[in-house]
Amino acid sequence: MFTNETLSRIREIVSSEYVTNEPEDLYIYSRDQGVQDPHMPDCVVMPSSTEEVQEILRLASREQIPVVPMGGGLVLSGLSVPLKGGIVLDMKRMNRILEINEKSHYAVVEGGTSQGMLDAYLKKNFPHLKHSLPDAPPAATIAGNIAIHGSGHLSQSQGGFHSEMVTGLEVVLSNGDVVKLGSCSTVPYWFSRAPLPDLVGLFLGWNGTTGVITKVGIKLYPRPKLHDVLVYMTEDIDLAPEVLTRVINTETAEDINYALSPKPDYLNGFQMMVINITANSEDEMALKKKIIRDVLKDLYETKESGFMPVPPNMKTGFLEAPQKALSKFADVRRGGGFEYVGAIMPIERIPDACRAGMEITARHGITYSLGARIIGKGHCAMFFFAYPFNRVDADEVEKVKMALEDTNEASLRLGGIPWKAEVQGQQLILKQMDPGTYSLMKRIREVLDPAGIMNPGNWEVS
Ligand SMILES: Cc1cc2nc3c(=O)[nH]c(=O)nc-3n(C[C@H](O)[C@H](O)[C@H](O)COP(=O)(O)OP(=O)(O)OC[C@H]3O[C@@H](n4cnc5c(N)ncnc54)[C@H](O)[C@@H]3O)c2cc1C
Repeated sequence: MFTNETLSRIREIVSSEYVTNEPEDLYIYSRDQGVQDPHMPDCVVMPSSTEEVQEILRLASREQIPVVPMGGGLVLSGLSVPLKGGIVLDMKRMNRILEINEKSHYAVVEGGTSQGMLDAYLKKNFPHLKHSLPDAPPAATIAGNIAIHGSGHLSQSQGGFHSEMVTGLEVVLSNGDVVKLGSCSTVPYWFSRAPLPDLVGLFLGWNGTTGVITKVGIKLYPRPKLHDVLVYMTEDIDLAPEVLTRVINTETAEDINYALSPKPDYLNGFQMMVINITANSEDEMALKKKIIRDVLKDLYETKESGFMPVPPNMKTGFLEAPQKALSKFADVRRGGGFEYVGAIMPIERIPDACRAGMEITARHGITYSLGARIIGKGHCAMFFFAYPFNRVDADEVEKVKMALEDTNEASLRLGGIPWKAEVQGQQLILKQMDPGTYSLMKRIREVLDPAGIMNPGNWEVS
């Protein structure tokens, strides 16, 4: 149980200006922008080192106090909201960039380092290198993003989910032990997870229920000099997988996004495929564009679909990473509510996912934007169902909640798996999961978190 004595002990571990139990501070940490119910923590702590994280976890483990690791708190599905109270471990002070390995193309950062910080640091000091950025606001952290299998602008061309770009981790376990995973466990380099038994996966996709990530090794990639975009449009909802697959197979596109939204009005009814291309010379750019145009030639010659001329102001938006338009759309209803859920699914299910999303939102009378990012040269898509809402409108919040439930069910029915699912969505997934996998997850949780203190309520296997 959390007592005044616990608070005093925490203040002995972390400088007291970074520990709070003031109600107005706790309020902020009790909720996120999504529709999940708020839950108050008992206290919020901002550690500055791995050693401080270790001490806090030792204390929490002894006293059976829940601990919820938090990065930017931007996940939107309540995953860093303390469902059972306890300590929110806000990692933002652990934001140092520890190493950039220019030759072996990786960065090592602390567990609270934000996407924006690494991006800015690379642009200033290593302009020829970049990492894969999600379209989340720049305050989102690298650790928080890999902990939920996030994806971003290099996910299509460079190997998939951001969790797949992790080269190593330092993690503090619930009992305070610290472990290094990947090559860094054995040699001073953080180059890869191979050739050792791959234990990194024990902390990716687990929503902070298996340990606190205090360091991350993440892959870097060359930053080509030129960046341009082609936009392909069609009204035929069933044509999208064909167009996308043809473009993917050219291996010339860096990032491929699909969107279907009723707003702005002139786009209503159109499927829009935004194809990002990068190159190091004008010749290379022209050739890549020609290759893409050529593979779609027979389709656009029918006039049923075609490339859209992109006006300069629109192009500037498309070329941004992260896409600020997404953050703007998040508040389109005003009132700050936004639930953006995804489902990882096969590319061929995109049309059915769109139909399901439109049917669900029409039934519940809410606004939507649907879309997909292609992952790993076409191995799957991260399909998103984005539902902005006005937080002060209780009726609208309730409608979005119901739409969310229906969306999770529809995703599983379509052969997809809800991504960064809120607790109810996680339970739906677990219900459908192979019993052997379920039992293995349970055993892993028992070994890594015997006191059940790590982000309890999430991935609850009992
Ligand atoms: C407008 C908008 C656009 C978005 N676009 C994208 C996108 O393109 N791609 C994408 O992937 N996401 C996107 N997101 C979703 C989300 O913001 C990101 O995935 C973000 O990177 C999550 O990181 P965070 O630091 O905010 O995580 P948090 O919300 O703080 O945490 C997420 C989960 O990770 C756990 N966690 C956090 N830090 C640690 C740690 N150090 N150790 C262990 N566990 C930890 C938490 O307990 C929680 O379960 C978007 C969100 C918005 C609002």
